[in-house]
Amino acid sequence: MTGDDVPGASTPVTFRGRGLGLRLGSRLVVLVCPLCSQRNAPRGAERGICEWCAYVPSPEDVEQVEDA
Ligand SMILES: [Zn+2]
Repeated sequence: MTGDDVPGASTPVTFRGRGLGLRLGSRLVVLVCPLCSQRNAPRGAERGICEWCAYVPSPEDVEQVEDA
């Protein structure tokens, strides 16, 4: 049972505990920007950047959301 890397699965993430995003395989979707706290436009979200302040998440900032 290795359910670690299921293709097509999306994992909720934050950026150093702020904002909200989704990890889709190797792609990152920015839903809520950790810098300007704006909800991202779908166009920017798909491109993995913030449409408001052009924030691009660095891989080291991405933290998986633990389902406590
Ligand atoms: Zn932003």
